[in-house]
Amino acid sequence: MSEHFDLIVIGGGSGGMATARRAASYGKRVVLIERGRLGGTCVNVGCVPKKVMWHAADFAERAAQAHDYGFDTAVPAHDWGRLVGNRETYIQRLNGIYARNLDKDDVEFVAGDARFTGERTVTVGERELSADHVLIATGGKPNWPDIPGAALGTDSDGFFAWQERPERVAIVGSGYIACELAGVLNGLGTKVTLLLRREHVLKDFDAMLGDTLIERMVEAGIDVQMKRSASELVEAQGEIRVEFKDGGESARFDKLIWAIGRLPNTDGLGLEAIGLELAADGTVPVDAWQDTAVAGVHALGDVTGQAELTPVAIAAGRRLSDRLFGGKPESKLDYSNIPTVVFTHPPIGTVGMSEAAARAQYGDDAIKIYTSHYVALYHGVLEHKIPSDMKLVCMGDDEKIVGAHVIGDGADEMTQGFAVAVKMGATKADFDDTVAIHPTSAEEFVTMT
Ligand code: FAD
Ligand code: NDP
Repeated sequence: MSEHFDLIVIGGGSGGMATARRAASYGKRVVLIERGRLGGTCVNVGCVPKKVMWHAADFAERAAQAHDYGFDTAVPAHDWGRLVGNRETYIQRLNGIYARNLDKDDVEFVAGDARFTGERTVTVGERELSADHVLIATGGKPNWPDIPGAALGTDSDGFFAWQERPERVAIVGSGYIACELAGVLNGLGTKVTLLLRREHVLKDFDAMLGDTLIERMVEAGIDVQMKRSASELVEAQGEIRVEFKDGGESARFDKLIWAIGRLPNTDGLGLEAIGLELAADGTVPVDAWQDTAVAGVHALGDVTGQAELTPVAIAAGRRLSDRLFGGKPESKLDYSNIPTVVFTHPPIGTVGMSEAAARAQYGDDAIKIYTSHYVALYHGVLEHKIPSDMKLVCMGDDEKIVGAHVIGDGADEMTQGFAVAVKMGATKADFDDTVAIHPTSAEEFVTMT
């Protein structure tokens, strides 16, 4: 006999937790199944440990700049093991908070691997559960290349398991993870080589951001190598030797990180039992309501490949539960103008369209670009100044702001507020009409001419 619920959630990550708790807040009977640690990717091997590491690297950068602020201190030695230990203690605390939240909200928690065994029926171990609605929120996992010796490398999960800081690390990839980990490791003293298969990073963003980031990374000492595609990894006297497709000179490292994108977690889910077909890229196809093609089966978050960000999975999940159980039939997530920050050194904040995308969509004549290249006051007294760059992409006669992009100190904290303005349809005149806050970097956004 199966036990019946209003909602079964498969996956206790950002999206699954949010959906389950919101559904339970409407008095529904909800069960959440998780095979790993509660909190999923973000809490355990994503946003949270990454941001802790980012802070550590930021601290090292500030320490190196302290001299120009009158401090006669050498950059203090860094204890990687202590940092990792403190980070993992913090994460364990979060795991506990997540478990207590489920308990408090009356969401039943089942530890184990879930798989579909029939229509809206899921099996975990010995238990068979059925529900009116089933949510697939199983997230994703790092992608690996299919080349000889690839297993000598590691991925972002492996990076977070390191107990010691390696001296020489190669990072393969050009997206968020490659750029973020390059900044962290370089900041903490590792010699970093970033291997790009093409000549850019962060290809989906405004080109100003990636181009400027490459400049900043090179200035900071990262060895950025372009058009370098690994063809084989070979173990050589405790080192990893990388051979390249173009036959160029091979290189040696202590560690290599694959950061070449992520794949959806659908293996073993038993989707064939319900006739749910995957898209060509392996993601679970959903419509604007997070509904799959199978009645009563929904999906959201990374497993759908839609804007793979924690707040997106959370927002989609809460709206889904509002619609299914909260009497809000129109509730769904608007995927436009999603703001995002890349925690590089310096950080990047971006919302809306890139200049290229706006020109392609609206035509050159409709687009007006404002830029600012400035040195933030903090850097004013430093011998080695790191400039910042901003861009506003404006459209039409009223110069509606369709894109706002910044790379520089403070970008991580200033973007959220401007995202509200962009989402509300602000125009350049609205920005100009807003009194600046001085002296800040954010004021550049409202003083561009
Ligand atoms: P997940 O959080 O991955 O949760 C899915 C859960 O499902 C997992 O816990 C998994 O164990 C479980 N599961 C899978 N299959 C089954 C099964 N069959 N049975 C039971 N359980 C199952 N996003 C940001 O917004 N900001 C950041 O700074 C950021 N940094 C990141 C850094 C890194 C290194 C990485 C890898 C990602 C980062 N992300 C960041 C992305 C963010 O972590 C994801 O978008 C988010 O976690 C997706 O949530 P989700 O619920 O879809 O999946
Ligand atoms: P991304 O999709 O961001 O970037 C991966 C890039 O690596 C590709 O775009 C591609 O760029 C390049 N690539 C692909 N295959 C290869 C290959 N074989 N060799 C060399 N390069 C290759 O993936 P990530 O793994 O960095 O991150 C996954 C997702 O997680 C992100 O998209 C983001 O949504 C989320 N995330 C969010 C963060 C945040 O919010 N701060 C931080 C970390 C992750 P190209 O085609 O240009 O070569």
